Amino acid sequence: MADRIPLIAGNWKMNLDHLQAIAVVQKLAWTLDDARHSYGADGAEVAVFPPFTDLRSVQTLIAGDRLDLRYGGQDLSAHDSGAYTGEISGAFLKALECRYVLVGHSERRQYHAESDEVCAAKVAAALRHGLVPVLCVGETAEDLETHGPSAVPVAQLRAVVETLTGEPELVVAYEPVWAIGSGQAATSEQAQVVGAALRAAIREELGDAVADATRILYGGSVKSGNIAGFLREPDIDGALVGGASLDPVEFAAIARFQKHVGA
Ligand code: PEP
Repeated sequence: MADRIPLIAGNWKMNLDHLQAIAVVQKLAWTLDDARHSYGADGAEVAVFPPFTDLRSVQTLIAGDRLDLRYGGQDLSAHDSGAYTGEISGAFLKALECRYVLVGHSERRQYHAESDEVCAAKVAAALRHGLVPVLCVGETAEDLETHGPSAVPVAQLRAVVETLTGEPELVVAYEPVWAIGSGQAATSEQAQVVGAALRAAIREELGDAVADATRILYGGSVKSGNIAGFLREPDIDGALVGGASLDPVEFAAIARFQKHVGA
């Protein structure tokens, strides 16, 4: 990991209503406080991605109590406004002071047939509204067997970054589909191989400054027991955590990975 501030992001998926969200965010903040977690030089940035209906409650709590936490949406519309029933504009997420938004999570790609073109349009929408897109890429077990570890995630990334210009701030989450929710995480060496390939692709498409600044996360069955290994890798700058982010004590332990690095 270079001098990029690590990001530990919790994707709650379709779990926790707005009342449960308040309890979980409060407990997460208290646990990090008790542990004297500090953001920045010796700590990670910690972000949660609750369902849309929780976001206003999470915003009010974080702003009201000045909690050192970030949050974002799990998806956004490629469109800014109009006749798109059920969709959520990036403008609305920005109005709720979201910093981040997930784009192209494998569950969106799988269950909602989101193509690379749709993901590119959503990343563009996020950037238009001043949100930092967290673009998720990753291969299935079948892809891994047929094409090797990096081909599919790199192709998914290229399809998006080749549409971008300038020096956009984005985060890339490498999430092997076979590792999500399976309890079988990739090894840190596997994550590093793909992380390095993703960064090389960003370098080619968008240049050194963006490649050096972009945080690449690993996601797939991350827990407090395996996080440190991933963060020791030079091209892994954090984690996107699903199941384990629903338990604030476990998620706080993941966010405090630096306590385990070198241990
Ligand atoms: C995810 O949902 O993005 C994820 C990585 O899930 P889990 O940590 O449960 O594997």
